[in-house]
Amino acid sequence: MDKKQAKLRVEKLKVEINHHRYLYHVLDKPEISDSAWDSLKHELSELENKFPEFITPDSPTQRVGGKPLPFFKKVAHRAPMLSLEDVFTTEEFEAWLTRISKIVPTDKLDFFGELKVDGFAMSLTYKKSVLNIGATRGDGKTGEDVTENIKTIQSIPLKLREPKESEIKNIGLNADKVLKLISSGEIEIRGEVFMTKSVFESINKEQKKLGLAEYANPRNTAAGTVRQLDPSIVAKRKLDFLAYGLVTDLGQTEHNQEHLLLKLLGFKTDIEARELKNIKDVTNFWNEIHKKREKMAWEIDGLVISVNNNQIFSKLGVVGKAPRGAVAFKFPGIEATTKVLDIIIQVGRTGVLTPVAVLDEVDINGVNVTRATLHNEDEIKRLDIRMGDTVIVQRAGDVIPDVVSVLKNLRPKNSKEFKFPKKCPVCDGEVIRQEGEAAHKCINKKCSAKHREGLYHFVSKKAFNIVGLGPEIIDKLVDESLVKDSSDIFKLEPKHLLGLEGFAEVSAKKLVSSIQKSKKISLARFIYALGIIHVGEETANLLAVYFNSIENLTLTSEEDLKKVPGVGEKAAKSIKQWLEDKDNKELLKKLVKEIDIQSPPKISKKLAGKTFVLTGTLETLSRDSAKEKIRLMGGDISSSVSKETTYVVAGENAGSKFDKAGKLGVKIISEKEFLNLMD
Ligand SMILES: [Zn+2]
Repeated sequence: MDKKQAKLRVEKLKVEINHHRYLYHVLDKPEISDSAWDSLKHELSELENKFPEFITPDSPTQRVGGKPLPFFKKVAHRAPMLSLEDVFTTEEFEAWLTRISKIVPTDKLDFFGELKVDGFAMSLTYKKSVLNIGATRGDGKTGEDVTENIKTIQSIPLKLREPKESEIKNIGLNADKVLKLISSGEIEIRGEVFMTKSVFESINKEQKKLGLAEYANPRNTAAGTVRQLDPSIVAKRKLDFLAYGLVTDLGQTEHNQEHLLLKLLGFKTDIEARELKNIKDVTNFWNEIHKKREKMAWEIDGLVISVNNNQIFSKLGVVGKAPRGAVAFKFPGIEATTKVLDIIIQVGRTGVLTPVAVLDEVDINGVNVTRATLHNEDEIKRLDIRMGDTVIVQRAGDVIPDVVSVLKNLRPKNSKEFKFPKKCPVCDGEVIRQEGEAAHKCINKKCSAKHREGLYHFVSKKAFNIVGLGPEIIDKLVDESLVKDSSDIFKLEPKHLLGLEGFAEVSAKKLVSSIQKSKKISLARFIYALGIIHVGEETANLLAVYFNSIENLTLTSEEDLKKVPGVGEKAAKSIKQWLEDKDNKELLKKLVKEIDIQSPPKISKKLAGKTFVLTGTLETLSRDSAKEKIRLMGGDISSSVSKETTYVVAGENAGSKFDKAGKLGVKIISEKEFLNLMD
């Protein structure tokens, strides 16, 4: 290839690579796989090595060009980077509206609403359409030049997209003016640098693996990353960017128009953002997003509501460091502070002693929280938590609330340290902590706490699934000696239940019938119900398919157990131990007499070597039955999409797994195609 040809090829590659970057990182609609994209970048970098004179600052290869910096240069902001006033309730929002209405009494106000992403504000300046400076907010007047770092963010264009004339006209702007400013002027835009929840989790997983401290939250991690002096580290952190403001006057008159224009310039913008006519629209928008909040790919802490008309917005001016024309309408926090009244110990089915903080009741995001888990002794030491302390508690999603930290300045003089018990608080049995393990365990075989928890597990949804038989009733049955072990459950008759508090004739019959119905059970569920340590749902399934009957399982050796694909050494040992126990042998004998275990049909090899990922709602099959079918045909199931995935079976409302499959080039099939595979 001669120099002229190379120049042409370099130009074309740059356009093509940038196009696919835009499809992938901004629109989230990739057309080619990651590896194909990498190979284009590789070709470009080879050509640039050969002909360095063709390297331009906007080349995709220049994203991680910089060497580590000794320090960041200061940058003065042309227009100050302001912060926002917070409101937390509709009343506070109305009060804000009343205040600003007094300043512009003759103007009709409508609004623009967008997500308030929990990230790090950034100013980007483009000179003649090429990215020139990326600067942090700093104190609002002066920030730091972090250009080399933000260049590594794939959703930030190194060169502005050149919109078509018709696109500019469509949003009501003068195409000549806009295009001229893009190509020859300076354009400043603003937005938020952030880290998605999934990237944050994988970084923490990596930290944990390396034995390093985990990061507290995506926001701080993103902020810390942007201020890294070494761009190559920043590149690994996979930051993202959403644009929300255009500082330069391109003729825009409304905030809404600004968003549309940012999109035309090649930025990722908030797809939830919208115009809002009145307070009702604002509260509806708030409610809608608040509900979706936990499912979103990145953390948001509220909405930004701005006066849509830019002229009125500037007329409203600035008070302190915040513009009057916008507010942050926040969501309730997922953290709150409260006092630790007590620390107690709960004993689980496997004998693990879990310390739990009993809290002064506190409302966190609409839920009354009275307890938080303290996990284990190490966590208590790490937090240095004492009874009487004021703590920050977090409740995210449906998980058990967690103590984030202790506010030690608020510690009272009479605070009490917690001593981890040497004996089981329920049965007084011996407690040990094995080397390399974080948990203390009660090793008394007859521990009544373990026994009860084992029964709760036995009747639970994924085990015998006995509808209407929850922990409360089990407790009564155990207290009345009606149930000594799990086999007694099946001997219950309505007359036994009638003597218990809360039971009448109808309810007693109903529960007995529900117990009778549960007697017919698959081998896999039965094995799971036994509650053997290290045998979860998945291992129980593998064992059922491999051994095909409970007799075969009981006759097996530890060596044989280790041969079952997917069954680890720990599980094999634990299963053998359980099966050899005299009491367990007795129990099994009794159980087998009472119930009807269904062996799985013989396994076929039709799907052997193939790995499936299920996503979305299937039309005719439940998730569980689809999984069962795959297992019975010798296939494997994975919960996440990787290059090892053979098929992604996509039902309705397929989510991120679908997108990831597309990116990795993994074959996506419909439910119908899936069923055809098995025919
Ligand atoms: Zn115990």
